Formats: sequence, structure tokens, C-alpha cells
Amino acid sequence: MKIIDLHNHTRYSYDGQNTAREIIENAAANNVDVIGITDHQFSIGAKIGEYIEEINALKTEFSGKITVLCGLEIGTRPAPSDFPPKISGMLDFCLFESLDSNKGMDIYEFLEWKKLFLCPIGLAHTDIFGLSKRYKTDLLKVLKREKIFWEINFSGNYDYYFDFITNKQKQCAVSESGISISVGSDTHWTGDFDKKRLVQANELARRLKNPIALEID
Ligand SMILES: [Zn+2]
Repeated sequence: MKIIDLHNHTRYSYDGQNTAREIIENAAANNVDVIGITDHQFSIGAKIGEYIEEINALKTEFSGKITVLCGLEIGTRPAPSDFPPKISGMLDFCLFESLDSNKGMDIYEFLEWKKLFLCPIGLAHTDIFGLSKRYKTDLLKVLKREKIFWEINFSGNYDYYFDFITNKQKQCAVSESGISISVGSDTHWTGDFDKKRLVQANELARRLKNPIALEID
């Protein structure tokens, strides 16, 4: 089993405390196979070129030791008006956050907007069952149809995770939907890195037997 962690913040994010190098070195030292850097697009702003260049250089430097992916976490409360989705062509993936918040953009509007993105996309820490209830539709089917992956975010900040790890019915629904799944620690500081939980979340993802996001595995 490859250990993946596709959600990490660096100092490019207002709330990140490490450099990308420190995040990657910590992951490599903990036998993580695939690490995704996903800083907030609103924090990066005009430094997006520098950001992509830095992560890509680290990708090359660490190749053979750990797979580094360059991603971005994009807020939807509301959707940024100044973010050109064209940039996503230079990224390995984008995560979208807060669609399940009351202030998050309308899901149908989001599905239109996401067509402009040129890389694989996923939903960060999203309570997909709560969102399905709100829209009175099975959004797992929508994710499957639209090839959007869903993140198991074990940072401890999101209730949906704690519900999901013990809720067999929800686990079955995700399995049967056939959607792709990723795992994310949402690390903002390597001091919070929790190897045990990372492995548990990866094991859960594999037990569900869904494809792993970005065709990892
Ligand atoms: Zn995040």
C-alpha cells in the first residue's frame, strides 16, 4: 500500500508554518510515498509562478525518494473572481474547499465553473452526505459522473471524518459509488504530523476499494 497525503500547507499559506522542503523532508522521513502540496490560492496570489516553480524543483530533487505533487486549495466562499482556472494546467490537481459551508458557492454553479479547470479536481474535507441532503440529490453520483475525487481529511477539524470512520452505511455508499478517493492530513505544521492517523486513513481508503485519486496505486 502506498501511503499518500495529498493535502499540505506551507508558508505560501497564511496559516502554514513550514517551507515546502520541510514538509517534503518530513514526509519522506516518515515513509510517505506521495505528498501533495496544496496551499491556499488566496494566500499565494501573485506568487503563483514562484510557487509552481519551487514545488516543481523539489519534485525533481526528491524523485526516487518520494513523489511530490503540486496542487492548490481553492476557496469557494465565494469563488475567487481573480483566479484564472487556466493556471490549473500547470498543476497536478486542485482541491476545492467549503462547498459544504453555508457560504459556499452553489454546487451547480461550481460544476459549471470546474469545467474551466485543466487538471484533476477533488473536494477537500467535504461532508458529501450533508451536502447531498441539502441539495436533495445523491452527490456521490455527481462526483462519479464528473470525475471529481473526494478527500478523507483526518486533520481532526472536520466532524464528517469521525462520523465516516465508524459509519458502515456511509462507507458502503462511498464504495458502491465507485468515486475516486484521496487522503489528506491538512498539515500546517510538521509538529502536528500524525503518522498513525495517516496510515489509518490510507488503510480505510484501501478497504473501501475505491480507486485512489490521480490513479495513484
Ligand atoms: Zn487545507
